[in-house]
Amino acid sequence: MSAHIRTANEVAPDAALHGHHPFSAVIVGPEDRILIRQGNIGTVRNAETELSRRAANAYPAEFLWTCTLVSTGEPCAMCTGTLNWTNIGRLLYGYEESTLLAVTGSHPANPTRSLDARTVLGSGQKPPCSTSSMTIRRRGSSKAHMKHVRTQTMIAHQIAQ
Ligand SMILES: [Zn+2]
Repeated sequence: MSAHIRTANEVAPDAALHGHHPFSAVIVGPEDRILIRQGNIGTVRNAETELSRRAANAYPAEFLWTCTLVSTGEPCAMCTGTLNWTNIGRLLYGYEESTLLAVTGSHPANPTRSLDARTVLGSGQKPPCSTSSMTIRRRGSSKAHMKHVRTQTMIAHQIAQ
C-alpha cells in the first residue's frame, strides 16, 4: 500500500503546474487498484475533499467502505470530515499534519491546523468512525518523507511568491 503513496505523490506536480499547492491523493479499491487520482485545486477544494466527492458520485457508499484514501500528507479536518461522510473505510497517509506544520510554520497560504485525522474521525457520531474497523496507519517521519515534505513546501512557497 505504501507504493500508492508514491503514486499519490506523482499527482502533486500536476497540481503545482496548475498553480495549486502540491498535495494529492488517490482512492484505492479493494483489489488494490487505483480508482481515482486527484491533486489539490484550491483552499476549499483540497485533493482529499475533491477525491471524496468524486468517489461519492461514482460509487455506492457500501463499496467505498472497502476502499482506502491514500494521501501524501495527513488530510486536514475538512478533508477528513468529507471522507468520513463519503464512507471511505480506510485512510493512509505519508506524513502527519504536525510534520507539515513544523516544516511550513505559520504560512498564510497553508494555514495548517493541529487537529489530527484520528481525532476528527473519533469525534463523530457515525458508527464506523468510532469502531476499530476504521484503520489509520501512520508512518514515521522517515528521511524520504521529510524530503518529500520539504519538496512540497519549497514548491508551495514558490507558488505563494
Ligand atoms: Zn484538506
